[in-house]
Amino acid sequence: MALRSLKTHKTTGICITASHNPAPDNGVKLVEGDGSMLLQEYEGLADEMANAETAEALVEVVKRCIEAEGIDVTAPSTGTAKVLLAYDTRPSGISLAEDAAAGISSLGVSVEILGVLTTPQLHWAVMRRNRGLPSSEAAYYKHIADAFGVLAGGPLNRKLHVDCANGVGALKLEQLKPYVAPLGMEFCLHNVGDGVLNGDCGSDFIQKEKTLPETMRGIPAGEAACAVDGDADRLVYFYSPASDSPPSQSPPVNVALLDGDKIAALVAGLFRTLVAALPGPLPTSTSIGVVQTAYANGSSTAYLTDELNCKVVVTPTGVKHLHKAAHQFDIGIYFEANGHGTVLFRSAFLDALREVREASAPAREILALNDVINEAVGDAISDILLVETALMKRGMNLPQWNALYRDLPSRQLKAEVHDRTAIVTEDAERRVARPKKLQDAIDAIVADYPGSRSFVRPSGTEDIVRIYAEAADERAVDELAARVRQAVLEEV
Ligand code: MG
Repeated sequence: MALRSLKTHKTTGICITASHNPAPDNGVKLVEGDGSMLLQEYEGLADEMANAETAEALVEVVKRCIEAEGIDVTAPSTGTAKVLLAYDTRPSGISLAEDAAAGISSLGVSVEILGVLTTPQLHWAVMRRNRGLPSSEAAYYKHIADAFGVLAGGPLNRKLHVDCANGVGALKLEQLKPYVAPLGMEFCLHNVGDGVLNGDCGSDFIQKEKTLPETMRGIPAGEAACAVDGDADRLVYFYSPASDSPPSQSPPVNVALLDGDKIAALVAGLFRTLVAALPGPLPTSTSIGVVQTAYANGSSTAYLTDELNCKVVVTPTGVKHLHKAAHQFDIGIYFEANGHGTVLFRSAFLDALREVREASAPAREILALNDVINEAVGDAISDILLVETALMKRGMNLPQWNALYRDLPSRQLKAEVHDRTAIVTEDAERRVARPKKLQDAIDAIVADYPGSRSFVRPSGTEDIVRIYAEAADERAVDELAARVRQAVLEEV
């Protein structure tokens, strides 16, 4: 990132975190000057540097990069180059940050250690720094809370339980509290660091296990709750539906999960309503698009296109694909099922809103949403305020939100194969280009189950093929997934 700063003459960033992974793991998230993730074309180089086995090997990669990129590592070029560093709450964070700082300094690039931050806060700080705007942590809270205040309009009387995954989100939501408490927004924080980071709690646990963390079983049925992951860039909502079973009983009670697909549906509905109320030609000229992957539930896609009249674009999995595709709309919305996502606004559209803001309350509200939302990257804290705004404006509670559409039953299976590279996919990973016989077999199987869908894709790292299936009912989806898995084993 020091080299990227030298090359682009912008401040770049590094957040030391392993996100939703176990506490002893660590890693880095790399931030370009505009606040986005490291450009894909440099990922191979980053991998090479990370995997260099000796200091000499590392220096060789760095030298090669300097030469290939034509980077000037002499003063005064190094004078303005800078990297911002932050880390999450993992014990190894501080010493790794010091090591990173030493590496950055060795290239003559200056470094600023911002301490413990969420990943999205670091992205935001880098983006703001390069725009010459206030970029401190206090500025972050004030910026999003002020905009949320505009949207709230008056006292809210809202209470939200938050599972903080025993991570950095706990510290940062605690700091946000005094900014939003006067608006009537109360956070009830759980898993604030007294247990293991991402240990049987947090957004990933709830999304995968569809059960409450043990520490949150005492929450009354129906009360609104959400969960973030270890570096607070993912968000899911949930509640425990009222049932006959006492909440403390074992096996664990189920939760109603509102994942990234549901967040996209809720948020798209909010923007659809606001845009419809804009003056002049804006209601018809404004494009609202939602970007999904093949893993998005078919019911969510149907809701977005049929009920909300939004354009849906499907990209291969991976945030960078989603983020890029969202740029093609005036309002581009994306959320992965795991709850990572954000909303991007075209700058010409924002300019058009500023022209009519005096006369148009919806224009003012969309502009305030642009301030609440972290456009650099998916941000659980800012997304909480976005979801709360959408619920408030649409007059919905969590069960009503959940009822916007009903997920089709889905299954995910794996098949071990000798050579995963034998499978090549196309059409955003939804179809197999090679071997053709496999796609023919899948087509034939899917045809046996009306309204169903299935695709397979090779793992990026292991000789495993992942199978996704969804169908109208549980029995059909079990059969469909098993038959497609069998086809993979036969044809690969
Ligand atoms: Mg994360």
